[in-house]
Amino acid sequence: MARLSDQIKRNEKNRCTFRGCDSLRSGISKYCEHHKQTKVYHGEPQGRTIRPWEYKDELAEVVAFTEKHADHRGLRNATKALDYIINRAGPEGSISNPAMIREMDRLSSHGVDALRALQEAAAVRLFFRRRNQLLSENRQLTFALGKAVLSLAPRDRVGVKGYRRIPPKPRKLLGLYLRDDLGGVVNGIVQGIETENQQREDFKKSLYDPFIPADREAEDAAHALPLVGNELDL
Ligand SMILES: [Zn+2]
Repeated sequence: MARLSDQIKRNEKNRCTFRGCDSLRSGISKYCEHHKQTKVYHGEPQGRTIRPWEYKDELAEVVAFTEKHADHRGLRNATKALDYIINRAGPEGSISNPAMIREMDRLSSHGVDALRALQEAAAVRLFFRRRNQLLSENRQLTFALGKAVLSLAPRDRVGVKGYRRIPPKPRKLLGLYLRDDLGGVVNGIVQGIETENQQREDFKKSLYDPFIPADREAEDAAHALPLVGNELDL
């Protein structure tokens, strides 16, 4: 069997498998360094950071919706569950990954609110739903959900003006938690908003319904043309 270093050397002579990329592969990866890193941090080689300004409209809708439905049982329970995760108040050992513990402590020390975190996740979910090309990119969604919530608190400083990049593992773990464990309520918010928007659209459309005259022969409608003057005192 060829030694690993030989395999790497051979592999690095090949092109990255990402469509349209001409760079050489990195290590044992089938991708170049750039696409390998993108996959690690965003779940897919074509992934990218979704910036908060991109989904600010969705966030506004989600905030309004969740305020209106503040008494929803699932919403309250999910908020409580996420609060346990952020403040690590849940059962002993519910979080074991050291990188995840570090990130939760960072959020907790900055007082990140669980409902706010849930709203952020629902806004990202809604953003993905509205952009069809991202619909099937489940892995990208997972990482984006985690990244969005983990970005609610300032990152740790590194050196004089640098910031520590949020590591891939917590992105994925928190993303999976938001997508799957709390998915019922996150998707429910998205569904609820879409239903309400549809109802508003239907209402607006109804105002443009044409007025269709009753179906009858012209002579039957003769009484509909009264001589106005006969009711006046002349
Ligand atoms: Zn590449």
